[in-house]
Amino acid sequence: MDRFTWQSARTVAEAASAGKCTVAEAMRADTDADRVVMKAGGIDLLDLMKEGLLRPTRVINLRDIPGLDTITEDAAGTRIGALVTLEQLAAHSISRQRYTALADAAASSATPQIRHVATLGGNLLQRPRCWYFRSAAHHCARKGGEHCFAFAGENQYHAVFGHDGCAIVHPSTVATALVAFNARVELANAQGGTRTVALEAFLVGPEVDVTRETDLRAGEVMTAVLLPPMPAGVRSVFLKQAERLSSDWSIADVAVVLQRAADGRCQNVSVVLGAAAPVPWRAQKAEAALTGRLIDAAVANAAGEAAIAGAEPLRRNAYKLPILATLVRRAVLTAADVRETVP
Ligand SMILES: Cc1cc2nc3c(=O)[nH]c(=O)nc-3n(C[C@H](O)[C@H](O)[C@H](O)COP(=O)(O)OP(=O)(O)OC[C@H]3O[C@@H](n4cnc5c(N)ncnc54)[C@H](O)[C@@H]3O)c2cc1C
Ligand code: SF4
Repeated sequence: MDRFTWQSARTVAEAASAGKCTVAEAMRADTDADRVVMKAGGIDLLDLMKEGLLRPTRVINLRDIPGLDTITEDAAGTRIGALVTLEQLAAHSISRQRYTALADAAASSATPQIRHVATLGGNLLQRPRCWYFRSAAHHCARKGGEHCFAFAGENQYHAVFGHDGCAIVHPSTVATALVAFNARVELANAQGGTRTVALEAFLVGPEVDVTRETDLRAGEVMTAVLLPPMPAGVRSVFLKQAERLSSDWSIADVAVVLQRAADGRCQNVSVVLGAAAPVPWRAQKAEAALTGRLIDAAVANAAGEAAIAGAEPLRRNAYKLPILATLVRRAVLTAADVRETVP
């Protein structure tokens, strides 16, 4: 690992004015940016440095900034500080009771040790796990090269939707649930300004820019994730399939947020697929198949099939499609309190 200097910021303003580029910019081989980057829990940042993919000149530690590690709620909704850990998110009464799919997504991420250190902001801003991207020997398109090695290579964990020149799947498990809840992110800049953006718009696919996963700008600090209030009766479910039961990344996951009208019909619904595309993938056809319907096994099954309509699996990942359809069916039935019947 190369030498770098360390700065522990005490305020958001100090961090924002110190940060000179995003990690995505710092990792591009053709960069002439001053590689001063931010660190929260450090799980991904240190991985990238140890893998020889990122060589910062200075690291700005965010962990000592007070006030970014709490979860609060008021009439406008819930505010989750960017330094809240995945473990806090999994256990907090607000997330558990009102945003159950989010708490379950956090609880199913990584290992207990990692969840105690990893922060929500860092989780949303971590870089992808594509093994070609993580290999210093592969100068792929996401690192500023010309080729994607995954299309003709080992692509069993890659995207089945939206792989326009790059087939990563978005690495954040909680992002699937946050998009289903229509979360927004709050970002502070060096000029003292703040912007909030829908997470769904903040996470960008390769068709926008293959070298970054987000709309984070140089020097910006993510300060919070904002969730709208959940009306009484909204049910949410998160389901994940991985190869091992613990400590493993999703090979497919699903978040469903469902609100029913007084007559029991589905009124508002979000169906979002994770580990399926370079961004959390809103399954609009599944949402359409559910809206206005009384939910039973046939409707849930149709939603599952609709969720995978239009998928473009690669040579080695078509196995993901029946898994995604099954997860959607089960999540919808669970959210609607309908028992699954075995034919
Ligand atoms: C074995 C293993 C299993 C894992 N399994 C999962 C899993 O199942 N699901 C999952 O989602 N993740 C998983 N992870 C990834 C892990 O959860 C992330 O690496 C971690 O959440 C990153 O958070 P952090 O706080 O450590 O971020 P850091 O590593 O500190 O930062 C990550 C990135 O975010 C930027 N950053 C951090 N905070 C801010 C901020 N507030 N403002 C601006 N920029 C910021 C940094 O500059 C950096 O680019 C796994 C990791 C390992 C090692
Ligand atoms: S899928 Fe994306 S990150 Fe992986 S090799 Fe292709 S361009 Fe690189």
